[in-house]
Parts: sequence; C-alpha cells; structure tokens
Amino acid sequence: MKEVTIVGAGLVGSLWAVYMSKAGYKVTIFELRDDIRKAEISAGKSINLALSNRGWKALDAVGVGDEIRKIAIPMPGRIMHSVEGDLTYQPYGKEGEAIFSVSRGDINAKMMDIAEKHGEATIHYNHQCLKVDLENGIAWFLNKKSGETIEKKSDLIFAADGAFSAVRYTSMQKLDRFNYSQNFIADGYREILLPANADGSYKMEKNALHIWPRGRFMLIALPNDDGSFTCTLFMPHEGGENSFDKVNTPEEVDSFFKKVFPDFHEMMPEIAQEWGNHPLSSLAIMRCFPWHHGKTALLGDSAHATVPFYGQGMNGGFEDCTVMHELMLKHNENWEATFEDYSQTRKPDGDALQDLSLYNYHVMRDFVADPMFLLRKKIEAKFSDLYPNQWMPLYSQVTFSDIRYSVALKRGNEQNSIMDKVMEMENIEAIWDSEAVIEKIKSLI
Ligand SMILES: Cc1cc2nc3c(=O)[nH]c(=O)nc-3n(C[C@H](O)[C@H](O)[C@H](O)COP(=O)(O)OP(=O)(O)OC[C@H]3O[C@@H](n4cnc5c(N)ncnc54)[C@H](O)[C@@H]3O)c2cc1C
Repeated sequence: MKEVTIVGAGLVGSLWAVYMSKAGYKVTIFELRDDIRKAEISAGKSINLALSNRGWKALDAVGVGDEIRKIAIPMPGRIMHSVEGDLTYQPYGKEGEAIFSVSRGDINAKMMDIAEKHGEATIHYNHQCLKVDLENGIAWFLNKKSGETIEKKSDLIFAADGAFSAVRYTSMQKLDRFNYSQNFIADGYREILLPANADGSYKMEKNALHIWPRGRFMLIALPNDDGSFTCTLFMPHEGGENSFDKVNTPEEVDSFFKKVFPDFHEMMPEIAQEWGNHPLSSLAIMRCFPWHHGKTALLGDSAHATVPFYGQGMNGGFEDCTVMHELMLKHNENWEATFEDYSQTRKPDGDALQDLSLYNYHVMRDFVADPMFLLRKKIEAKFSDLYPNQWMPLYSQVTFSDIRYSVALKRGNEQNSIMDKVMEMENIEAIWDSEAVIEKIKSLI
C-alpha cells in the first residue's frame, strides 16, 4: 500500500486525507497544534467561514457534505446596516441559492473526525514540520511534547500547512527558480462576539450575512448555531480618521462604535469590554510557483493564501482537492504527471481567486452602499433573469458555480466593460428597466 504524508490537519489537509484514503493510500497527518476537539471552543470563539458551491462539491464527492450540513446555517443574502440604522437586503443569487455560515472550530473538528472515520487517517498532534526532502519524500517533525525529532518517509507528501507553510518556507523557497511573494494589505481585522439574547434568540436576522459598510472600513457578522454572531471589523491598521491605532482605550472603543455603528452599539453596549478578547490580526496574499517539486505538492492556503473578502479561501482549497483528484484519475496515478498538470492548470485559478478577493474587498468596502453600484447590479440581475445563458453575474460564477476562477474573472472583466457603457446611458436611473437598456446590453455582448 502506498503511503501518503499530509502536513497540517486543517480544513484542506483533513479533507484531502479522505480523498487519499478512499483512493487506497495509507494516510498519516502531522499537525502542529494539539487536538482542537479536546479544547473547549464555543461556537462564537472563532472566525466563521462562508461555505459555498465549490466547497460543497468537494465535500459531497467523498460523501461527507451531509455531516457538515448539520453545522451550517444558510445565508441567502446580505443585510446592509446604514449609520442611520436603515436595513437593505440584497439576495446573493437566485431563489433557493445561499452561502452557509460555519464556525471554523466546528468545521475543523468535524473534518478531523471525518478524516479519522471515513479516511482512516492517523493524526499525530503536536508535531511541527521542520523541513522536507521534496524529491525523496522525507519529512522531519519535532514532537513538541517529547522534544524528539522524527523522520517520516512516504511515497507522496502534501503540504496543507496553511498561509505560513513550513514546507514552502523551509524547503520550496530554497529551490532555484521557485517564485514567491507576500503582500500584506493595509487593513487588519479584529473579531467581536455578539452574544445571543438572554433567551438564546438572535439579536438580528439569523439567515443573513450582515454588513456595515463605511467606505474605508466595514464590520460584518455571521450567525452561529447558539444565537450569537461572530463579527469581524476590517479597518486600516493606521492612518486616517478611522483606523485601529485610533481605537485603544475603552472610551475610544465605545465612542467609535456609537458614532459609526450605532445600531450595533445598541445591541452590544458592552463592546468596550469585549474588544480585547481577540487580537488584531493582519491579512496577506501569498503567491508562489510551482506548486510542487518531486514527491511534494502544496494544497490550499500554502499554495494560494488570500484575503477573505470573497469568502473563497477554504472553498478554493477544497476545490484543489477536487482538481488534484481529477488529475490523479486522468494520469492514472502517475504522480509526476499529476503534479505537473496540477501546477500548470491550477495556478491561473489560484491567481484569479486572489485577484477576485482583492476586487471584492473594494466592492464590500466602497460600493455595496453606493446607489449607482446597486442599480448596476439590479440591471445585471434583470438581464441575467431574462437571458440566463448569456449572463451569469460574477458573484454567482464564483460562489454558485464551479466555473474556473480564471474564466470567471475574465468574464467578469468583460461584463464590467459592458456595464460601464450601460451606466453611461443618458438618464440611466430613470430608464434602467426599459427595453433600450436590454437592447444596449445585447448589442455589446
Ligand atoms: C478573517 C478570515 C475570514 C475567512 N473567511 C473565509 C470564508 O468566509 N470562506 C472561505 O472559504 N475562506 C475563508 N477564509 C480563508 C480560510 O480560513 C482558509 O483559506 C482556510 O483555512 C485554508 O485552509 P488550509 O487547510 O489550507 O489552512 P489552515 O486552515 O490554516 O490549516 C493549516 C493547518 O496546518 C497546521 N500547521 C501549520 N504549520 C505547521 C507545521 N509546521 N507542521 C505541522 N502542521 C502545521 C496548522 O496548525 C493548521 O491546522 C478566511 C480567512 C480569514 C483570515
């Protein structure tokens, strides 16, 4: 039986273990942290992730989607909160389409269960990957409990050890002609847990992603099972009127929320006490190429870590599993050919995923509250309803389909150019619903 080592029992590593076990490989996972299932993590104590089509497809293909559905809350649309407290609802897709809120702690614990149960994988916790002999399939791990270093040889190694991948850093980045870049964006994020009402009910609509867009910064909230919401404030680290360096003392926190998110402050007057419970974190995009060398390949964030604004990091990582599996079958388990094909065909999609994430950062921050942007989306939605085969909105291509990210990005750019011209039509606000607008789009496609 061929042996596979997976570095990292995060979301992607655990799922890939199931794929490999089902394909008949003996799987061993080494994970830096302790078993998170033993730690008491309440639903709201970790980031929530939006799970969508690509993720479900990868989970369902190995029969584990239903396990995750049990812990997923559908969010068919987003609710925008204005400073005045007005709420605007925007559906994400068509009737029946939704993205799903899952707690990172819950899904990671579930994925570990699944890897062990369905994947028959052995997981070694508290084992830190130190380096890898990429060509010979040998990895070295420090047992953090005993202090011992162990050597593990296997037929294949998959590095699913996240954005700051040790395999990439200690081994791939030492290779000749291995490209790597790391770019932090100006914004950081801090989580806030908005607790349930005393009776366990939700303080806002449960089945929606809530956004407080404020131009250069924004707050978002995703529902948890226990009535709470996990909220994330994205804002520049420093500079400008509103930035993390200006919000330090309890008084500053309190007056900041009162001023810019008054309806949130009303729901959570104790915000100043909660503020320090979560650290301020940074956000970066890491690009690299190739995604393999010898017997080792990168999966998930280790290959294409991105900023979270399209909610696609995990979904894209899960899709890596779909792609790697398809290529494994295509090349009849010739792993040299599989890895080569994977690097070549998947890299443009990783790049596109990162470009799309940056694009949506601007959409969420600057545009979702802009009436002209909302009008543009309304026109697109109408045309798409009338001619679904000719126009699928970019968000739907990314979130509700498995069209390659690179193709979605290209089509999205083409659609943008068309919509730029449509929005230049005289008196567009008045005529947006007219036949003339439909004809204009048709003439430009
Ligand atoms: C604020 C925020 C919000 C996000 N929201 C979304 C969202 O809504 N939807 C979405 O799809 N994605 C989202 N993402 C992205 C998503 O979290 C990641 O893309 C996803 O976690 C990647 O999974 P992974 O398994 O590749 O890496 P990880 O989940 O980071 O797992 C890596 C694992 O490797 C282990 N490890 C690290 N170093 C070593 C080592 N040296 N040796 C052994 N093990 C090691 C780690 O402990 C960890 O368990 C978000 C990210 C952030 C930061």
